[in-house]
Amino acid sequence: MKWLSRATVALSILLLVLAIQALRLTSQQPEPEDINRVTVKRDQAAARLANMLKIPTDSSKDPAQHFRRQTALMRTAWPSVYQQLSLVQLNEHSQLLGWRGTEPTLRPLLLLAHLDTVPADQQSWQQQPYSGAQIDGDIWGRGALDDKGSVAAIMESVSLLLAQGYTPQRSIILAFGHDEEVGGEQGAAAISQYLADAKVQPWMVLDEGGLVLHEAPFPIDQPLALVGTKEKGYLSVKITASATGGHSSMPPKQTAIFTLAEVLQRIQAAPFPAAIDGPAEQMFDWLAADMRWPEKLLFANRWLFSPLIIHSLERSDGGNALIRTTIAPTMLSAGSKDNVLPETASVVINLRLHPRDSAEAALAHLHAAISDLDDNASAITIEPLHDISGKRSSDSSLDNVAFNALTQSIRNNFPDALVAPYLMVATSDSRHYRSLSDRIYRFSPMRLHIDDLSRIHGRNERISVDSYVEAIQFYADLIRASGNSTAE
Ligand SMILES: [Zn+2]
Repeated sequence: MKWLSRATVALSILLLVLAIQALRLTSQQPEPEDINRVTVKRDQAAARLANMLKIPTDSSKDPAQHFRRQTALMRTAWPSVYQQLSLVQLNEHSQLLGWRGTEPTLRPLLLLAHLDTVPADQQSWQQQPYSGAQIDGDIWGRGALDDKGSVAAIMESVSLLLAQGYTPQRSIILAFGHDEEVGGEQGAAAISQYLADAKVQPWMVLDEGGLVLHEAPFPIDQPLALVGTKEKGYLSVKITASATGGHSSMPPKQTAIFTLAEVLQRIQAAPFPAAIDGPAEQMFDWLAADMRWPEKLLFANRWLFSPLIIHSLERSDGGNALIRTTIAPTMLSAGSKDNVLPETASVVINLRLHPRDSAEAALAHLHAAISDLDDNASAITIEPLHDISGKRSSDSSLDNVAFNALTQSIRNNFPDALVAPYLMVATSDSRHYRSLSDRIYRFSPMRLHIDDLSRIHGRNERISVDSYVEAIQFYADLIRASGNSTAE
């Protein structure tokens, strides 16, 4: 009895501590403000985006003629923008547009987007990827979300603000690269160098990235407006297993392909460690305040419950990618004839590095995972291929006037959504700008259901006209708020 009452007291105290911890969290979500809306002519705006989607600017091919056609199209679609802003074209196809503010001492707002797309497999789409079809309120086509939707929404918003006679105090710069999907060296890197040479220090850099996500894998009813404040690193490695080749009629017990299969099994069985730290920790700090009970109790007391939370995040691919370095085998090769043993078999593995893992640490992890394949160890090599982890993004500051302006504009235009910083699991052009600013944020003002994320780089990419109009309103609001702000 005595024991029972002690346990009850202890349990009550624990619950009280947990509840107090949860209560201490106050919402970071500011109230929406009255905003000056622009009047978007939906049909015409949708048609201009649809026309851009008809041009196959797939940067993995040689799309020079298509880029030329697209540049010409943009000039006719938004003539006032090209008349009133200055234009510099870099490596012919990238566009840098400058809208000079009345206060040249204020640092400019830099809006990024990209003009190229990934390829599209025409067969598997419900609507042709370069049709620009408009069906049931959706605009279809490769690039609708990634990233011509942003390019066109930014151009619409500037064009509408110009028509209103608006002039910003702070300069606004639009930077559209043309090779983001193949690394951004000709586009974003060249633009960033150009701006550095011109001694431009942006007030804020906003690129594609997070979205307004409906039904996120967290216990929150509201949509989440996620702003990428850091990107994961990117490292590809090639693992090769070697063996004596020969005729397949008298095969040895161990062959290059069997060895490689073992390597893959070992690596699959050795995931990188997971933890809630860094950007994930920040995200849950922001979100926990607005969670419902009892989840709020759980997320506000991560010191106690993180194993439970990690377990639940691991169940979704998106949640898993937030908390650890991921391992994705993407290319296999071995053999050229059905009756010949190949001397080598290899796999390319794409790693997305969590900020806590360096490229060296990741390689060491892979070596450790296969170290017990003793006999064959000498026949296995691990070779880094494509390492852009050196250009890994740094943490963007969350405590400054520009970030406040950004979150306020998100709140104004997506009043139903909760805003939170997050770790972007893909890479974007923004990494090329990190020498210019520590205020780099990644947010595309588009609504997407979690099941629709696969349309980005996948089949059936499309954006609803409603979402597109919201994006235009968002950029107009952000440009106005930034253009009017004199706080540095
Ligand atoms: Zn993109």
